[in-house]
Amino acid sequence: MVQEIKDITIIGGGPTGLFALFYAGMRSVSAQIIDALPDAGGQLTALYPEKYIFDVAGIPQVLAKDFVRSLVEQAGRFQQPIHLMHRVTGLEQDGKEFVLVTDRDRFPTRSIIIAAGIGAFAPRRLPQRCAEQWYGRGIYDIVTDPEAFRDRRVLIIGGGDTAFDWATQLLDRASRVTLAHRSDLFKAHDATVAQYRAAVESGRAELYTFHELHDIECRNGNDRFSHVLLRDVKAKTTREVEVDVVLPMLGFVSNMGVIRDWGLSLEKNDIIVNSMMETGRPGIYAAGDVTAYPGKLKLIATGFGEAATAVNQAVHWIYPEKKVAPGHSSNMALFGQKDD
Ligand SMILES: Cc1cc2nc3c(=O)[nH]c(=O)nc-3n(C[C@H](O)[C@H](O)[C@H](O)COP(=O)(O)OP(=O)(O)OC[C@H]3O[C@@H](n4cnc5c(N)ncnc54)[C@H](O)[C@@H]3O)c2cc1C
Repeated sequence: MVQEIKDITIIGGGPTGLFALFYAGMRSVSAQIIDALPDAGGQLTALYPEKYIFDVAGIPQVLAKDFVRSLVEQAGRFQQPIHLMHRVTGLEQDGKEFVLVTDRDRFPTRSIIIAAGIGAFAPRRLPQRCAEQWYGRGIYDIVTDPEAFRDRRVLIIGGGDTAFDWATQLLDRASRVTLAHRSDLFKAHDATVAQYRAAVESGRAELYTFHELHDIECRNGNDRFSHVLLRDVKAKTTREVEVDVVLPMLGFVSNMGVIRDWGLSLEKNDIIVNSMMETGRPGIYAAGDVTAYPGKLKLIATGFGEAATAVNQAVHWIYPEKKVAPGHSSNMALFGQKDD
């Protein structure tokens, strides 16, 4: 299928891409987002939906998932599409026009803003073959709604921040929380580890260090598992734990994929841009975590400024008669304000 041509196509629906979509609408050009994930929000949705963010200007404190909801609402103001579950797999160019190819579609576009963050990322999967068949049926590697685990016996595998954050947050919801980790060294924040250890000492949770998943057993005659076997990697013994849900929290693997092959200047995985967010390839701009320049800060706040710069430059590149400077939203007739 071929989509209709847009002025700007944004690769990535994280905070940078979402703000760029709004901004393109504000500049009265057509735009769209393409993202590989099933939900918008990038890292905020995939990695830390339940964490609070404190350093976005004007918002003293907000849960990441609530902030994404606001960004999506703002991005939707001009009814420009967000195409989810499309991984960009190729780029074609014919004169000044591009076609972004995804695994399911083709998106013609006059310019591109790469807001691909740390790349298309996916949770690292459990290496044990016994786990494969249970993904989506008791094994979940992304938690979007902790309420889904109310009164369930939950096993979390991992030793990082995400593992301990969820372990502590589920203490009051799950009927039992068990955390297993391959070693006794944790990457998680000391305070969260201490909080979980206190729950273990008070008998509200379990912690097995030097343990890894060994097998998953279904003994209740239905299609859900009821027990897992954990293997003590030092003692070479196994231990049985009754669980309804396994949450592997093993980090994410990210991949810039084909974007690395588009002839852009790279610094490690990041795209080198100038102060106009130009990548060096005319018509292709970048913004957000994916960019590199002296003094770069990988923060939500900086991504927003870069998104505005990239959109304004792209608009002027496509339509030279349109100014780079956008004017003030507070004066725009577009928003029902007095046009200046
Ligand atoms: C645990 C944690 C806590 C954090 N806390 C804060 C904080 O408190 N304050 C702060 O300012 N920052 C924080 N950050 C950093 C912040 O989340 C990032 O700076 C921000 O998400 C960058 O936004 P982005 O839109 O540039 O990229 P991302 O959020 O990474 O979004 C990029 C999107 O591009 C998509 N994509 C990539 N490649 C492709 C492709 N080939 N095809 C299709 N789609 C693709 C991805 O699926 C993803 O959705 C935190 C990060 C983490 C991991």
